[in-house]
Amino acid sequence: MVRAIVGANWGDEGKGKITDMLAKESDIIIRFQGGSNAGHTIINNYGRFALHLLPSGVFYQHTTSIIGNGVALNIPYLVKEIQSLVDQGVPMPKILVSDRAQILMPYHILFDAYEEERLGGKSFGSTKSGIAPFYSDKYAKIGFQVSELFEEDSLREKVNRICEMKNVMLEHLYHKPLLDPEELFRTMLEYRDMVAPYVCDTSKYLYDAIKAGKNILLEGQLGSLKDPDHGIYPMVTSSSTLAAYGAIGAGIPPYEIRRITTVVKAYSSAVGAGAFVSEIFGEEADELRKRGGDHGEFGATTGRPRRMGWFDAVATRYGCRIQGATEAALTVLDVLGYLDEIPVCVGYEIDGQVTKDFPTTGKLEKAKPVLVKLPGWKCDIRGIRKYEDLPENCRNYIEFIEKEIETPITMVSNGPEREEIIYR
Ligand code: GDP
Repeated sequence: MVRAIVGANWGDEGKGKITDMLAKESDIIIRFQGGSNAGHTIINNYGRFALHLLPSGVFYQHTTSIIGNGVALNIPYLVKEIQSLVDQGVPMPKILVSDRAQILMPYHILFDAYEEERLGGKSFGSTKSGIAPFYSDKYAKIGFQVSELFEEDSLREKVNRICEMKNVMLEHLYHKPLLDPEELFRTMLEYRDMVAPYVCDTSKYLYDAIKAGKNILLEGQLGSLKDPDHGIYPMVTSSSTLAAYGAIGAGIPPYEIRRITTVVKAYSSAVGAGAFVSEIFGEEADELRKRGGDHGEFGATTGRPRRMGWFDAVATRYGCRIQGATEAALTVLDVLGYLDEIPVCVGYEIDGQVTKDFPTTGKLEKAKPVLVKLPGWKCDIRGIRKYEDLPENCRNYIEFIEKEIETPITMVSNGPEREEIIYR
């Protein structure tokens, strides 16, 4: 059975925690898109970890972690991340890397930074991990697949050809130092040696695993609203964040994805630029950010401060719908325990009209939130393990959200740790 764990919002919903938790009963966990540009924070018996490239299943010895073909593979980063786990006492995980995954090249990171510099104030808020240049090259068919590292002659020829092309841009558009093809070729051979122990035909491996009835998780990065097609374009990421893309980015049949667990955060937060209708500012935002505690302030990868807002039912219902959510996991609910009243955004007012449908970007930028206020529960709900034991106002908040998002909430997370989960 294949189950996807994906985000309904802007990312940082707590997918890492849910995946780490569900990985206990899983055999295989797969990353199918994105790269090391966003992180999952996981707190478990080994300590606190910020994973960027590895799936959140690497902490169990019975699981296999797969980097699927859809991922932007930063090879030195992968090796560093594996080493940092081992250094912190985690047993060496079983890792497989798709032979069709494409390689994030050193120049992708440079081009990302140069382009942001060129755009100045008009930038897209890139994390400068090279993700946009990577996917541009992939679709322009000038990327490198992992398998190509093992064909030395054609690799050398291709490195020369690509350098010629990149150097035109470096010289004339960015006025930056040129690439040296010899040096790049040597780097590629180093990459080959680093990744070689993990390389595998992962699509075939998964085909066999599905036939054998294994439990498989697809772990998404970011959330619906950062999807390049269905999100807040152009303030989006460069690969699809949707469960549907799991089929492509892992190389499995779409109909095998039976459950789509969409992770929904009890309030809103976003990293980077873009319209954010229910955003709050000033002291109100600082308080929520602070209460978010270790979850709060900064994105796991970028260190940029998170923007905060009230729960956005319009965006989240859309986020669940576009994921094809079969269920939702509501996270970080514990953080809201300090509020007397909790505002929830239930509609957007655009040019004097109220809508509950999530619009395209131009209209989104004009939207003003229609807020309702629900009574708070004014206590700490961490440690509660049964739904009935939650305060009534807290259950009302959950049930209100459930109705608004039109998706059953089957799990409520009331703390960052593995055990802090309430099943309904
Ligand atoms: P992801 O990218 O969706 O995995 O999200 P991140 O890892 O970037 O952010 C989730 C953050 O929330 C992490 O710091 C988690 O430890 C934390 N977290 C997850 N679930 C809960 C929860 O129920 N309560 C609290 N307080 N923190 C949580």
